[in-house]
Amino acid sequence: MKYTKFNNYSNTFVFDTWIKWESITIFWWIHWNEIAWIKTINMIIENLSNQKLKLLKWKLILAYWNEEAIKIWKRDYNYNLNRLFKDEYLKSNSDEYEIIRAKQLSEIMNKSDVLLDIHSVSSDSVPFIFCENIEKEIKIVSNIYNWKTIIWWWDIAWDLLSWGTDWYMHKLWKIAYTLECWNHNSENASDIWFKASLNLLNYFWLILYNNLDINWKNELIEMYKIQTTKSWNFEFEKWMSNFKIINKWDLIWIDWDIKVYAEDDFIILLPNYEKTKIWEEIFYYWKKLI
Ligand SMILES: [Zn+2]
Repeated sequence: MKYTKFNNYSNTFVFDTWIKWESITIFWWIHWNEIAWIKTINMIIENLSNQKLKLLKWKLILAYWNEEAIKIWKRDYNYNLNRLFKDEYLKSNSDEYEIIRAKQLSEIMNKSDVLLDIHSVSSDSVPFIFCENIEKEIKIVSNIYNWKTIIWWWDIAWDLLSWGTDWYMHKLWKIAYTLECWNHNSENASDIWFKASLNLLNYFWLILYNNLDINWKNELIEMYKIQTTKSWNFEFEKWMSNFKIINKWDLIWIDWDIKVYAEDDFIILLPNYEKTKIWEEIFYYWKKLI
């Protein structure tokens, strides 16, 4: 099967069949340093091209994204591409690379019914997937993957976390997942997203593939608060890693000269050791539901 490009946009791979209904987009490399997938994605494209993997119906769009960041070996070229999906950028006439690329991706998303956006993390972690707190998305997750599922609460940190791909798709009332498939360097990362991608395609009947184990159980976790810095001088008191359990009254960080103790028992997610800018998110508070 031959692929075409979406509107002639670079690094887009559209596999289409004559049975038109749903359109599934799998999208990756929005952040250059998240390189876990590299060999695997080429394998999917190759296998679809030579029919080892047969696309039975609908349409599949594969795309990789921040080419300019990839060229200079940086996470972003000028902007975090995953924060540009708002009118201010999508309607602008800017000639900046990432803004042009965000517009192209928004066109793809306008034509897609389901989106899987693949990322990986820099800290120690296990895989987790973000979805909205709606029945349908949570139900589908249990058919594609068996790690941690994070219910994404937009009202908690709207201005900081919005304008990403999943936000944009949800605004259009479509299905969207962001999969953080492991640490960038982990060999298991590409395995996780490869199987999750194929299971998703299987769920929507695009291919025949079944990697499901009846013993799979997703752990459901809910976000309830975000922590931002109050000063320019922020430091974690001890080493934090994803999903570490923090107990009430633990000393967790020092913000300038203020020692901050945990107000609750919680699970820490995405501790940010890199950014020290004022008011930026430094971690999220989570609690386990199931
Ligand atoms: Zn990312």
